[in-house]
Amino acid sequence: MSIRLLSETIINQIAAGEVIERPASVVKELVENAIDAGATRIEVVTAGGGKNLIRVTDNGGGIPADELTLAVSRHCTSKLTDDVHDIRALGFRGEALPSIGSVARLSIKSRTAEADSGYEVVVRGGYLEGPRPTAINRGTIVEVSDLFYATPARLKFMKTDRAESTAITEVIKRIAISFPQIRFSIAGTDRSPLELPATCSTGETVSEAAMLERISQVLGTDFSGNALALDSEREGVRLTGFTAIPSFNRANSLHQFAYINGRPVRDKQVFGALRGAYSDVIARDRHPVGVLFLQLDPSHVDVNVHPAKADVRFRDPGLVRGLIVGTIRHALAQSGIRPATSGAEAMLKAFQAQGFESKDFSASQFDMPQRSSGSFTSSPARNWQSASNYRPDAPRQEWSPQTAHPAQRPLHLDNQPAPRYEQAGFGEAMQATISQFTAPSADSRAAEIEAPVELLRAPLGAARAQIHANYIVAQTEDSLVIVDQHAAHERLVYEALKTALEAKPMAAQMLLIPEIVDLPEEDAERVVSHAETLERFGLSVERFGPGAVAVRETPSMLGEMDVQQLIRDLADEIAEHDTANGLKDMLNHVAATMACHGSVRSGRRMKGEEMNALLRQMEATPGSGTCNHGRPTYIELKLSDIERLFGRR
Ligand code: ADP
Ligand code: MG
Repeated sequence: MSIRLLSETIINQIAAGEVIERPASVVKELVENAIDAGATRIEVVTAGGGKNLIRVTDNGGGIPADELTLAVSRHCTSKLTDDVHDIRALGFRGEALPSIGSVARLSIKSRTAEADSGYEVVVRGGYLEGPRPTAINRGTIVEVSDLFYATPARLKFMKTDRAESTAITEVIKRIAISFPQIRFSIAGTDRSPLELPATCSTGETVSEAAMLERISQVLGTDFSGNALALDSEREGVRLTGFTAIPSFNRANSLHQFAYINGRPVRDKQVFGALRGAYSDVIARDRHPVGVLFLQLDPSHVDVNVHPAKADVRFRDPGLVRGLIVGTIRHALAQSGIRPATSGAEAMLKAFQAQGFESKDFSASQFDMPQRSSGSFTSSPARNWQSASNYRPDAPRQEWSPQTAHPAQRPLHLDNQPAPRYEQAGFGEAMQATISQFTAPSADSRAAEIEAPVELLRAPLGAARAQIHANYIVAQTEDSLVIVDQHAAHERLVYEALKTALEAKPMAAQMLLIPEIVDLPEEDAERVVSHAETLERFGLSVERFGPGAVAVRETPSMLGEMDVQQLIRDLADEIAEHDTANGLKDMLNHVAATMACHGSVRSGRRMKGEEMNALLRQMEATPGSGTCNHGRPTYIELKLSDIERLFGRR
């Protein structure tokens, strides 16, 4: 076959293959065009997941009649001058409209402010009709119908209407986040309508509050209660935006957004840096939530790597990564102790869902078994019933531990064996803190623990009780705090281990008899090859013949623990992280593994002083609001919320 130039239509269809993957990519191109045209209102209507119809209406500058034909011609753009490296608009390739015109029916109606009428062009199968006059207000309406009718192969790859229509919503949300001054709306037969009103006016610089409001429109209102603001600059690269506290995490990465000079990107380096910043505080299978805006000289970033402009190339990738990781870590550290508000909210909902309406709260129901099948099983009705002598009409009795039904007695009764402090694996640092408190009094075992009034003013308040042998109930001046003692302690130990890594080696305690751990030879080899590192944590291991190691010393901070299991877990961690991510990362994982082994197990009873010491240490430790797996270590219920639950407000 002889060589010949491809027809314009074929060239456009080939280009369409790159730019127009699915209906959502059409929407992205059209919405970006409307933004570039200076629109303040953008309306999207779809049908059949965008395969049947996509219509984007804007109130932007419009296209003059004599340029309408150019707009749908290849490589025609009003946005790029002569420097490909100086790109400020969202579009610049002049490819979108001709590509769309080659795979669908495309109609563009437009009117500029100066024109006395609007004009329309229609492209179908590569053929152009118009321009001809049409009735339209100032702005542009682009309508795309029968997408991919000309390329049935592509049509076969489309997902269900619902999936395509969701993808369109995602694309619009993604763009909308970086343009809070624009009102977006989406409607159509294939969806429920969505409105994103502008959160600030055009022309004014976008405030942090306006930005956060737009993000909350997209991510849900609970984001703002859990967001940390970012703002920093390094060598001409500026990072702003918001990330959520670690316990506000997600099962997928859909809630991560990145923008470079206002342009949405899905760049691997940027998202990798976001993940990296949270590697310490979020479980490996969970994802942080955040919105990052990077602002840099357009000549320092190449957005022309990919036709859909999703990937970029930075002139200095290390600088950008360092800026992202550093800024987020700093913000996380600054935020100190703070759990997700959603925990308390979820709790409120759980209570409310189960709550008795006051009219239901009649004596007759006290004799009935619990009536709801919800998850909250200890309803007041049931407990009072089990107290057996309760009658709603009987004179009220003073409650005392002696008269109470066994199930109702306080948890810290004298017949409980006093736990041996060291045995439970409590840390030495913690012991030091605790010794400042007065010697345990008989009172500390009562249901309510006496504590100095000043403690009420501390962020986590004064410990009042321990329930179910794992939850510390504390009281501040205006709230009720519930701490998961195991999760909290694990976090404290982890932080202490990490600090120790950077400072002096940790104190070790010698085992009377060295513990021999049998392991597969490779694991034994792995552990022994890191003996020097483990020594810094206070863990002393040495080779003990083939397939075994001897442990002579363990970190005194961890107290007594299952050495066998610890060594096996460490071998796994080392195998997984040794070569892959460098020493620092591995050390963090080793620290986390040790913390998990040495933490106060749930089920251990604690004395009042111990509980208060734990609370104080949490307050003093950055990041202690979440455990190493990103779950909250405590939740706080404001008195005002409690009052709402009881209908007092
Ligand atoms: P690009 O956006 O890369 O320039 P397109 O093919 O998307 O290429 O658009 C071609 C040109 O059509 C744009 O440069 C712009 O001048 C004009 N145009 C497209 N959509 C609109 C719109 N909604 N309002 C005003 N002008 C538009
Ligand atoms: Mg464009």
